[in-house]
Amino acid sequence: MATHTTRMLIIGSGPAGLSAAIYGARAGMEPIVVQGLQPGGQLTITPDVENYPGFRDVIQGPWLMQEMQAQAEHVGTRMLWDTITSVDLQSGPPFRAIGDGGDIYEGETLVIATGAQAKWLGVPGEHELGGKGVSACATCDGFFYRGKKVVVIGGGNTAVEEALYLTNHSQDVTLIHRRDSLRAEKILQDRLFAHPNIGVVWHKQVDRFVHDEATGLLRAVALIDTITGEHSEIAAEGAFVAIGHAPATELFKGQLELDAGGYILVEPGTPKTAIPGVFACGDVMDQVYRQAVTAAGTGCMAALDAERFVQEREFLNIRKAVAAG
Ligand SMILES: Cc1cc2nc3c(=O)[nH]c(=O)nc-3n(C[C@H](O)[C@H](O)[C@H](O)COP(=O)(O)OP(=O)(O)OC[C@H]3O[C@@H](n4cnc5c(N)ncnc54)[C@H](O)[C@@H]3O)c2cc1C
Repeated sequence: MATHTTRMLIIGSGPAGLSAAIYGARAGMEPIVVQGLQPGGQLTITPDVENYPGFRDVIQGPWLMQEMQAQAEHVGTRMLWDTITSVDLQSGPPFRAIGDGGDIYEGETLVIATGAQAKWLGVPGEHELGGKGVSACATCDGFFYRGKKVVVIGGGNTAVEEALYLTNHSQDVTLIHRRDSLRAEKILQDRLFAHPNIGVVWHKQVDRFVHDEATGLLRAVALIDTITGEHSEIAAEGAFVAIGHAPATELFKGQLELDAGGYILVEPGTPKTAIPGVFACGDVMDQVYRQAVTAAGTGCMAALDAERFVQEREFLNIRKAVAAG
């Protein structure tokens, strides 16, 4: 077990955390980034990114995140592979966090960039068939279903992107949605509807995931019609749940104020939490925009505010020392 100390402790290595690291390192804050279970964050499960500024052509999410990490390390960030299991924000600064294996992290400032995680439906068979046909990540698992019939559940950007991505592997992709229209951006909807290998099933919600008795693998998804209540089944060897994300804020419950959706509340227009020296950026505090570029932007803001916080404290300490003679 080791103790790691820094002027700027960053929890999370998505676009928010890594942007904060780049700005913090360049300001001499010698940041430490604790990467968590998903180094690079959500963009590492995104096949194509075509809205991140600076790139005319479509780029790959994992590639973009590798580049961000390389840039953060190049300017002096220390990347540590650990997952924070508890934090103490009340007695800082320094703010203290404990890692999975017992390592202690102490930061004069703390930048929370823990992002968001996939939501699950919570229906029978979903958990049991995880890795056996049910997934929340087409980019991670789509390859295993090449040539097979797959379904995607959801109606937002994530669901449409997952369905489009799966056509790289499958000629038979069905999007299942409980309403009669999608929430996804129009450009994504246009691509979905124009794709010859994607069908859409409207007004259906998942009742349960059904396994094959012989193999133990997913064989079908049982559905309920949201208008008539009628039960039906759709055959599928792969089912991708794409119904959105929940902010990763469990760690901070009781220590920071969260909104009804569990997002960290910050002073409007800033990444400042109610605790001076503790900042939140990216999807963990943003339920409206939830984009890589907005996460990076708020990460930058958090680093600039963290640096100012340290400067002010140091200035006050010098003044106190001078006054004390
Ligand atoms: C399928 C999909 C497609 C997308 N496509 C696009 C797109 O084309 N363009 C776009 O701009 N945006 C896209 N987004 C959204 C974008 O990925 C997110 O807005 C962005 O990644 C949010 O960045 P973040 O840094 O706030 O959090 P995340 O990317 O969620 O990163 C969170 C980080 O926190 C870490 N973490 C969590 N808990 C802990 C802990 N306890 N200890 C240590 N670390 C922890 C995780 O390991 C991870 O590194 C997409 C998202 C998805 C899911």
